This record gives sequence, structure tokens and C-alpha cells, in this order.
Amino acid sequence: MRAKLIRIQPSLVPLLNSFLEKSIGDLSRFFKFGEEEMRILSDVDAAAEEIRPVEVESYLKREVNLEVFTILSRHKLSGMPVSKKYGGRDANPLVSALAFERLGQVYVGLGAITSMALCAKTIEDWGTEYQKERYVLPVCRGESILGFALTEPEAGSHIDGIKCRYEERGGHYVLNGTKYLVTNGVIADALITFARSSESNSITAFIVDKKSKGLTATPLKEKMGGFTSDLGLVEFDQVEVAKENVLGPLDGGKKVAYSAFMGGRLRLAAVCLGVMEDCLSSSVERVKERVTFGKVLGKQQLIQEHIAQMVMNLEASRWLCYNAAFRLMDWEKDRKNLTLRRDADQAVVIAKRMAAEYAWNTADRAVQIFGGFGYSIMSSPTRHLLNVRVARIGEGTDEILSLKIAAEILGKEFESY
Ligand SMILES: Cc1cc2nc3c(=O)[nH]c(=O)nc-3n(C[C@H](O)[C@H](O)[C@H](O)COP(=O)(O)OP(=O)(O)OC[C@H]3O[C@@H](n4cnc5c(N)ncnc54)[C@H](O)[C@@H]3O)c2cc1C
Repeated sequence: MRAKLIRIQPSLVPLLNSFLEKSIGDLSRFFKFGEEEMRILSDVDAAAEEIRPVEVESYLKREVNLEVFTILSRHKLSGMPVSKKYGGRDANPLVSALAFERLGQVYVGLGAITSMALCAKTIEDWGTEYQKERYVLPVCRGESILGFALTEPEAGSHIDGIKCRYEERGGHYVLNGTKYLVTNGVIADALITFARSSESNSITAFIVDKKSKGLTATPLKEKMGGFTSDLGLVEFDQVEVAKENVLGPLDGGKKVAYSAFMGGRLRLAAVCLGVMEDCLSSSVERVKERVTFGKVLGKQQLIQEHIAQMVMNLEASRWLCYNAAFRLMDWEKDRKNLTLRRDADQAVVIAKRMAAEYAWNTADRAVQIFGGFGYSIMSSPTRHLLNVRVARIGEGTDEILSLKIAAEILGKEFESY
């Protein structure tokens, strides 16, 4: 019975490849893809096909999908956005967005994305040479996993509310506190974390080895989706951190976090595109096959309305994401230019805010199209629906991003978050 249900899953390969081809074709009008960029995308395409069945199997067993790290490493993608000097592929924001769009079709587990993009890239941007060699290179070689531990039980949206403390003692820093909802929190080899100074009250970023004495990590398994991604509660009890493991300037932790979010939010938005594409392609196939009232579903006008809305959700989100990627690229060429930074930040926030909402709406419509079978986690729209909900919470909730978008237009004195 189970095998038969799985067979109902349409074969999506040709359509998925065509989404990637379409995106590259559309963007070629504005951007010249080089040979290495096309190679990265072709590697991502091959990796995505390998990930799909493994991900489904892990999902149905509700197991963390560690194989995804191996597959990405085999295709030399573990450090995709990181520069070649540290073992990455130097994928610019646009190529990264396309890569995560393709991966999002098959894998919404946040683990690999957090490790390579949110963490390795942030250490590359802010770290010392020692930190890059010690923490970034192993990620790019597929030998290490990183996590980003900012949220606490009593502080998520409000960074200034974090209570985790650090103090200087005996030539190093000592951390105390609890971090909550940490992707890769249990499986990571090291974490980027944030703590408040006992003296100055300002926030500093640290890289902490998971094996440090006094650090404990507990898995958080009671969640609505994303079963293939590790999530943990991390406690620091008198954890000693070497001074050379301060990431970025002392007291400059908020800057490190905000810059990590710029790239991170775009990549999450791109994953949402992949979710919409997969939901659309499986729905198109389904409505051409499923017969009710003597004709295929696709000929029912109310079903066509769902398809039309899904297409519009996807198209609107795609161009918001690509625009944000171009803005980020403009800023990366001239990092000191604050106007370019603000433009990029606003474009990324808008893209993430909209893509997350549209992906949720699209997955919900796909579930509706699949009917009763769409209520089972055996169907891919359901898995997408449960997984993608987090995109409206992580790396800035819908509400916080709306406030940020409004404040950018109204002026700093209207900031209400
Ligand atoms: C699966 C998953 C993975 C995650 N991975 C990570 C990770 O790897 N690292 C990490 O650090 N964190 C991670 N998080 C945590 C995530 O970033 C936070 O949950 C998020 O920032 C929201 O914080 P919170 O949960 O404390 O909600 P709260 O801040 O308590 O907010 C609750 C609700 O109130 C709204 N709200 C808050 N303030 C305002 C306001 N001023 N005006 C209007 N509405 C407001 C919020 O939008 C939200 O809807 C993860 C979360 C999940 C679910």
C-alpha cells in the first residue's frame, strides 16, 4: 500500500530541470553566466536529484538527513558561496539564489544551508585568517558542520533582549546562558553564538567549539515539519572561549548578525521559490490525471484559479529575489557605500517577506488540489507545507520584516521594533 502511494508521486525530473533552465534563460538577458557559474548550477542540479529520494526517506522516518551533507560535498558544493581561497566555489548572490532555488525543490531542511551560507560565509566575511582556516575550510571540504546560535528562550525577534553573558577571566572569555532553536545545534562541530558583556552590556559574536567543557546540546524534536533538519537547545555553563575566537569586533556582534541575515534571508527566499516550483509542477501533473465528475481536474475553473495563483505567487517572488540578488551584488562591489547597503537590505527583506508568504500560500493550494491524499506526509505538497512554514518565522518573522520595510520608508524615528 505504501509503495503504491509513493508511486502516485509524479516524476518531476524534466519539469524541475526546466525551471532551472527557464531561470537561467530569463536572467541571461541581464547577467552573463560564466563557465564556472554554469558548472556550479549543473552540479547543484545533479546533487538535487540525488537528494530527493534520500530526503523523502529521511522525512518519512523523521530522521535528520545527514546524507545531504555528503551529497553536497561529493558535488563540491559544501562551501558554494565561500571564495575559492577557502575551498568554496565563489558563487555570487545570484548564482547562490538559483542554487538554493533548485535545492528548495527537494530539500527544505535548513541544516546544510545554515552551515555553508549563514555560518561559513559569515566567518569568511568577518573572521581572522586563523578562523577562516580553522572553521571555514573544513566546512568547504565537507568535514565539518556549523550552526548559528542567536535566539534564546526569551529573545528571538528582539536581539537586544538576549541574556547570554560573557566575561573576561584568566586570559579568555567565559560564556553562560541558553540558546534555543539552533539549527544544527546538536550535530554542529562549532557554533557562531552571541553574548552580552557583563560590563558594557553590548553584544559580541563568538565561535565556540561544540566539544568545549560546559557546553551541552539537547535535540528539539517536537516540531511541525522540517524533520530532516537538526534543531537543538544549547546551554553554556562556564564555557571558556579563547580570545582568538571572537568573531568580528568586540562589542560588534549585532553588525555580524545583521550582515549574516542579508545573505541568509535571500537564500531562504530562494528556497521558497523551489518550494513553489515543486508544488506547482506536482499540481500540474496531478490535475491533468485526476478525474472528477467525468473530466480531469485541470478542466475545472476553480482548480485553474489555484494554478493561476500559484504561477503568480512564483513569478512575483522570483523577480523580487533576483532583484535582491542584483542589489546585493552591487553592494558587494562597493561595501563602504551605505546607500547600496540599505537598498540591498530593503530588497532582500521584501523578497524574503513575500516569498515566504507566497510559498506558504502555494503549498496550501497544492495540498488542496491533492485533496485527501494532500493531507498525508506521503505527498510532497504536504511536506512542503509543513516545512516551509518556518520561512515566515526564521531570519526575521513576517511582522518584524514588515516593520523594517515600513521604517525604511518612513524614517528611523518610526522604527518600532
Ligand atoms: C525550525 C526553526 C529553526 C530555527 N533556526 C534558528 C537558528 O539556526 N538560529 C537561531 O538563532 N534561531 C533560529 N530559529 C529561531 C527564530 O529565528 C526565531 O524563532 C524568530 O526570530 C522569532 O523569535 P521568537 O520565536 O522568540 O518569537 P518572538 O520574538 O517571541 O515573537 C512572537 C511573535 O510576535 C511577533 N512580534 C514580536 N515582536 C513584535 C513587534 N515589535 N511587533 C509586532 N509583532 C511582533 C513576532 O513576529 C512573532 O509573530 C529557528 C526557528 C525555527 C522555528
